[in-house]
Amino acid sequence: MTTPPASPSCTYHATVQSQHKHDFGQGLKKSAEQRTILVTALTLATMVAEVLGGLWTGSMALLADGIHMAGHALALGLAAGAYYLARRHAQDRRLSLGSGKIGDLAAYTSALMLGAGTVWLVVEAGQRLRHPVPIQLTEALTVAVIGLVVNLLSAWLLSGKHEHHHHDDLHDRHVHAEQQQDHNLQAALIHVLADALTSVAAIVGLIAAKVWGWLWLDPVIALLASVVILRWAAGLLRQTGAILLDSEGPGEIRNQVRERLESVADSRITDLHLWSVGQNAWTVTASVVTHSQVSPESYKEQLADLAVIHHPVIEVYHCDICPVTPQDTPR
Ligand SMILES: [Zn+2]
Ligand SMILES: [Zn+2]
Ligand SMILES: [Zn+2]
Repeated sequence: MTTPPASPSCTYHATVQSQHKHDFGQGLKKSAEQRTILVTALTLATMVAEVLGGLWTGSMALLADGIHMAGHALALGLAAGAYYLARRHAQDRRLSLGSGKIGDLAAYTSALMLGAGTVWLVVEAGQRLRHPVPIQLTEALTVAVIGLVVNLLSAWLLSGKHEHHHHDDLHDRHVHAEQQQDHNLQAALIHVLADALTSVAAIVGLIAAKVWGWLWLDPVIALLASVVILRWAAGLLRQTGAILLDSEGPGEIRNQVRERLESVADSRITDLHLWSVGQNAWTVTASVVTHSQVSPESYKEQLADLAVIHHPVIEVYHCDICPVTPQDTPR
């Protein structure tokens, strides 16, 4: 993009160059960015309040939860930072196919952090099971309720269910494939939902300890919650890992691309790569063999109304060996 046209006087050169873009929507400010900033601020405020409250009252439970909130603020701040970086570097040519995967990298990292935190929870619960410790009931319940309220509020803010987002809808006439998730937002949401889940587990466990004296129930529920959270983290690692490794795109989009490219003259696809370059953004490189004199532009025109396809590169081979009977053209 920075290099001048080979022939500045030629309008064709200028047109071809001006049509070329590497920003597949990452340059736009998403409402999700605002929401992650808001939730990070809420988590930081809770952290400060808990640490101050802990120091003021001498409650170790409040202080410990304040430190735990710092971990969440870090993960949520990571999501907010990823939106900012993706937007800021949307046109950065050092990123070969744009900044669309920054969110996936952040989500992958966030899922690793959540997984590590949950493993720690499993170890802690295991120790509590073997050596039950007396619990400061009122104190622990207060902390659990604060955690639950803050995390439910955060989940509601993040999910954006209170907003009407017609603007985010992808107006694509042909691709009805399931919309790809915003993994960055999903990671933030999983963090707050995981924490809400552990708060509920703690509240149930603490009440059981108070009413029936069951000290074992709290760690047992914590272990069950850990299994759920680890599965969420693993699912997110699998999805984002696949994107970071350029795994092949969905079959439905592949088939549409194949159909369109093969609709040009007697073309047959010999190679097709489709991979993600951002949320709901895919890129294509393809090789086609034909007996007709068609240009790469003819193929790109066929893909033009597939809004999810960006930056296609089509390589055209002209076969002059066959006696021209399109039926037995090579596949
Ligand atoms: Zn390019
Ligand atoms: Zn290939
Ligand atoms: Zn041929």
